Amino acid sequence: MKGVAILGSTGSIGLNTLDVIARHPGEFRAAVLTARASEERLFEQCAAHRPDLVVLVEEAAARRLGERLRAAGIGTEVRAGNDALVEAVSLPQVDCVMAAIVGAAGLLPTLAAARSGKQLLLANKESVVMAGDLLIEAVHASGATLIPIDSEHNAIFQCLPAGATPGTRPQGVRRIVLTASGGPFLRTPANELSFATPEAACAHPRWVMGRKISVDSATLMNKGLELIEACRLFGLAPDDIEVVVHPQSVVHSMVQYVDGSTLAQLGNPDMRTPIAHALAWPQRCESGAEPLDIVTTARLTFEAPDHERFPCLGLAQRAVRAGGTAPALLNAANEVAVAAFLERRLNFGSIPMVIEGVLDRVASGTVRRLEDVLAADAEARRAAQQGVARLQGKSPDTRAGAFA
Ligand code: NAD
Ligand code: MG
Repeated sequence: MKGVAILGSTGSIGLNTLDVIARHPGEFRAAVLTARASEERLFEQCAAHRPDLVVLVEEAAARRLGERLRAAGIGTEVRAGNDALVEAVSLPQVDCVMAAIVGAAGLLPTLAAARSGKQLLLANKESVVMAGDLLIEAVHASGATLIPIDSEHNAIFQCLPAGATPGTRPQGVRRIVLTASGGPFLRTPANELSFATPEAACAHPRWVMGRKISVDSATLMNKGLELIEACRLFGLAPDDIEVVVHPQSVVHSMVQYVDGSTLAQLGNPDMRTPIAHALAWPQRCESGAEPLDIVTTARLTFEAPDHERFPCLGLAQRAVRAGGTAPALLNAANEVAVAAFLERRLNFGSIPMVIEGVLDRVASGTVRRLEDVLAADAEARRAAQQGVARLQGKSPDTRAGAFA
């Protein structure tokens, strides 16, 4: 029986992971569940899955959950705080860690999972963007197995030769074609895009996801983060990766080999497919996803991304080419800008302006250790908050000089 720790069990990836686990009661068990503050949902998950331990970051929520579990006669232990989150991945009953916290908050627990030598199922792309090399180093040092959960990277993993080393360019690969759905604003004119609402941005045509990644999909920053993620996970240069818009989200990505072969992984857009693939790897198991009907799917289209309407993709390319702490700066600035947009303090069209301002103003440095990344993250957040304050309430068309 494989014991699974789900970091971020109350989120979209967490729920899908529990759905797959519940289909295989003899094979997988949710041993540890964690969340930031959603005690209500965690209570339901404890009642259904009876994990050994739950961790909540917020102390008061953890106290309330502990009382409710005791009253209901559920023996799950409850711990609180970020240290408890990091410690949980090393418990002996945990064989496999699903890293599905959103944003930079996932970095330390994801790194702890990489250091633990266990199986790391990696959904938290922000940790790879911030500290990909450190993460890969930790995987090598501990002997951990890394399986990407992001649907594109999981697709690439499936199209690569078995036994490919994380962070090392696999033999014979010419390039990778990373597919993007294009998000909810694929055909929205530029003038309307500037004032898109959080509701419209979070209404993704193909995937139901958390709010932060939904906004990233709408700006195409999600694809930018994924480009950086692919460079780090597969040891490729940014120019070896082509981003193509594929609105049907059926081809999840492709690997082109030097002999002219192109391998692709196809499936209905359902995160349970990569989750089940990673949980059962190297075997296969039922995921609950509808099998692809290739005849009704019929027409698959591919087009180049529009960099003018979606400048975030270019900003990510700039950051990965600059290297060092630049991707961490990009990630932090994006998190601040997206949070401000979701709180209606920033226009949709101003998100890339905040990020560009941070890349212009904050110098990138070398990443030698984790502290370099954390310092860059903190500095970029401060600069981004200033950028948001300057752009707040302004139309994206009067943004010139916002950072002057
Ligand atoms: P979500 O917002 O639905 O869930 C986030 C989870 O993280 C929740 O359980 C929440 O309690 C926890 N969390 C939030 N802040 C935290 C903090 N400060 N400390 C500890 N825990 C915290 O997010 P999601 O859509 O499930 O995405 C999770 C990760 O997976 C993201 O990195 C995202 O980019 C990646 N991902 C998601 C999808 C998807 O389909 N949702 C696809 C590919 C990759
Ligand atoms: Mg993805």
